Amino acid sequence: MSSWIIAGTALGYLLLLSLLAWSAESVRKKRKSWINNGYVYALSMAVYCTAWTYYGSVGRAATSGLDFLTIYIGPTILCALFWPVLLKIIRICRTQGITSIADLVSTRYGKNFSLAVLVTIFCVMGVIPYIALQLKAIATSFDLLAGTTGNTNQSIWKDSTFYGTLLLTIFILFFGTRSVDAAEKHEGLIAAIAFESVIKLVAFLAAGLFITYGVFNGFSDLFQQANAQPRLQQLFTFQENNAYTSWFSMLTLSFFAMLFLPRQFQVNVVENLDENHLKTAGWVFPLYLFVINLFVVPIALAGSVLYPGATANPDLYVLNIPLDQGRHLLSLLIFIGGFSAATGMIIVETIALTTMISNHLALPLLFSTNRLHQESRRNLSAVVLWVRRGSILLVIGLSLLYDKLVAEQYSLVSIGLVSFAAVAQLAPAVLGGLYWKGASKNGALAGLAAGFICWMFTLLLPSLAGAGLLDNSILENGYFGISWLRPDALFGLTSLDPVSHSLFWSLLLNSGLFVLVSINGQKGTRETFQAELFVDFLTKEKFEVEPAAWKNTANLPALRLLLQNFIGSERAVSLFQKYASRHQIPLNTTTADPRLVQFTEKILAGVIGSASAHILVSRVAKAEELSMEEVLNLLRESQQMMELNKELRRKSAELTRVTEQLSALNRQLMAMDEMKDEFLYTVTHELRTPLTSIRALTELVHDNPEMPENQKTEFLAAVVRETERLSHLITQVLSLERFESGKQPLELQTIQTKELLDEALSDIQPLVQQKKLRIQTQLTHPFQLIELDPILVRQVLYNLLTNAIRFSPESGTILFAAEVSGNHLEISVSDQGKGIPEAALELIFDKFYQAPNQTLKKPEGSGLGLAISKKIIELHTGNIRAENREDGGARFIFILPLSQINL
Ligand code: ADP
Repeated sequence: MSSWIIAGTALGYLLLLSLLAWSAESVRKKRKSWINNGYVYALSMAVYCTAWTYYGSVGRAATSGLDFLTIYIGPTILCALFWPVLLKIIRICRTQGITSIADLVSTRYGKNFSLAVLVTIFCVMGVIPYIALQLKAIATSFDLLAGTTGNTNQSIWKDSTFYGTLLLTIFILFFGTRSVDAAEKHEGLIAAIAFESVIKLVAFLAAGLFITYGVFNGFSDLFQQANAQPRLQQLFTFQENNAYTSWFSMLTLSFFAMLFLPRQFQVNVVENLDENHLKTAGWVFPLYLFVINLFVVPIALAGSVLYPGATANPDLYVLNIPLDQGRHLLSLLIFIGGFSAATGMIIVETIALTTMISNHLALPLLFSTNRLHQESRRNLSAVVLWVRRGSILLVIGLSLLYDKLVAEQYSLVSIGLVSFAAVAQLAPAVLGGLYWKGASKNGALAGLAAGFICWMFTLLLPSLAGAGLLDNSILENGYFGISWLRPDALFGLTSLDPVSHSLFWSLLLNSGLFVLVSINGQKGTRETFQAELFVDFLTKEKFEVEPAAWKNTANLPALRLLLQNFIGSERAVSLFQKYASRHQIPLNTTTADPRLVQFTEKILAGVIGSASAHILVSRVAKAEELSMEEVLNLLRESQQMMELNKELRRKSAELTRVTEQLSALNRQLMAMDEMKDEFLYTVTHELRTPLTSIRALTELVHDNPEMPENQKTEFLAAVVRETERLSHLITQVLSLERFESGKQPLELQTIQTKELLDEALSDIQPLVQQKKLRIQTQLTHPFQLIELDPILVRQVLYNLLTNAIRFSPESGTILFAAEVSGNHLEISVSDQGKGIPEAALELIFDKFYQAPNQTLKKPEGSGLGLAISKKIIELHTGNIRAENREDGGARFIFILPLSQINL
């Protein structure tokens, strides 16, 4: 394929990325965001999958089987299980304005300068080879596609790599240095990175599908053909004795890489917009890793079947196979996929390294020369930006150089592992710093330096020697000709593969020294302060009470000027005003409040790193070094404040609860009040009806003296009836009131059930005869004794029976039953009347309730009978209910305990 087409496509792709990044940033200006969600966050994390994944995994699978998978299991474990570690780091970095892994280490150990420098140099040395690896991947894939393999160093693709790199550099320069504040998010860049993650996934899946289904006849065909080759069979079973150790060390490496690789730190922590995104990423990112690895084994097998005897580079199978099948368009897509994997990594890694180099190496150097300091009126933000740009060029230049000199000799994966092993050295200092207050600056320095040197001697130098840049004999005879200093067998440890070997010795020395020195040394005040902050304070859910201060005082205008120099006067003033109004600090003084000094330092830390920020601020501020005791007091005070806060919150929660209870009670009272009103209204209404007829009748008799005697008698009889009804009603209302207020005492007596029933029956005898009804009684234990208030219960029975009589049809039957079960007596009255509407079954026990559409009206009907009955039964700690019988008619049942005393 023509190099021009390929280069043109790559260029077009880069332009598309720029367009995307640029749009994302313009959207941002309208206060919207494309990247503010967990999915984009997870996709940006997928910058983890570089050209190494894209090309190298297949290569590794084809040469050493399944162990490529360990590289993805580590991050999966981190995201799915150990995300609280990540969360802690995110919170700390947000509150302290930390913008790089070097910054994190240095800030934890008292903003120590040497640590920042050490970690920066270390990261640069560890990661440059990794960036070179990406350049190499772009070059070799380009090479294969353009058919220019075999040309010497002077070939065109070398030039096109150079130009490609140049274009990429411009992209990074443009989108990576938009703001001086490194703590500000790179909205456009992250949008581009997430997009690249999608492209590389799609392209790789396309390759996998094509190779599995287009070249072979699906998975089973592919596996059958592969199975026929003994070498391949062997590959996918555990063979060597140290397979387990190498699996374990790769897992460890990838776990730490996901935390500490500068580019991962950049996307996971610095660019994190919302810690809740971590939850989504916890499953989306592992899923991404899973999907992108689906076709690795099939492609590796396919390549091994198609190119037996190593006629093609296994790293490039994914591109080689479609190309040999004449699928040019697909090949171009696959090339672009690999290109995005590589460029995504280069972009983010460069930004991350740049922040470190400029903040911890270049800027501090500049500030330490007095010239710049004297010109402090100048706008320093331009200086910062130029230093950043220079650093970008430096990083890319170094990578190109490494690519030219060393990378050509190595497969993709081995270079990647060298980088992984480098960043793994940060583990003791960072993790120890996060969870162990005893970790000290000197411990971290000693551990890191030892780990670093060990890594250099066991991995980096051998790789340089292997490339012919160093004397090759060290590989065989050991350093200085001493055999137990052989880089892959220190002290005679020969049973491990080179990477596990290096990891073992370096981490052992590193963590050992870190712990030993930490335990045995003294710690400074600032260090103790930061240790407390990191381990205990900053990670609280809501960091409300910031331990307030160094006793720093400074001249306010000088402080403002300092900030102004870096971020411009407008922003400086507005930040000051916001902060001051939030914390109620006066701004019209000449001496700045200590909190303001601290705030300035935090903002500056975002721009130039915490160590430099600290140096600059202490130049304007008169720092009174606090004694250890004062520091501890400060911390204790804030601890107390936090507890006080918690206490206050608890109290206010309690108050809210009490208020709620009160208002519920109030609602209940109001409802009761309403009920009382209603009751009064109904009572007076009920009283008026008989009164009206009494009055009408007596007036008639009074006004007509000549009225015939028999009519007069009839009228007077009616008056008597109505008066009776009236007094009955009044008695009812009064007795109900007595029951409700609890004024009615129970006069308990022990009687036989039979006695109770007989008395009730005799009460209603006249009514029964009048209506020609039949009463059937059922009594299981006639002589059972029961303790109750006979007068009241008789009243209940009377009410139930009269109701039953009232609703019974002419010559119907009423069933009156009493049964003993357990220690209860159950009495029921059933009639053959029209029954009770379902909806009214409970309502009939309410005061004054009379079911609608009643045709019958008993003379003394008041709607109070059942309400009173219910009260009486409840006073006896029993209960009453009504139901409809299956064959029509109603049944009232009440249950009484046999003895009131037992209950
Ligand atoms: P009242 O004094 O009006 O009878 P109650 O409280 O005794 O008042 O009864 C309330 C309502 O329950 C009655 O008006 C009637 O509608 C219904 N009711 C009571 N007993 C029966 C029954 N055996 N059959 C059908 N309805 C009944």
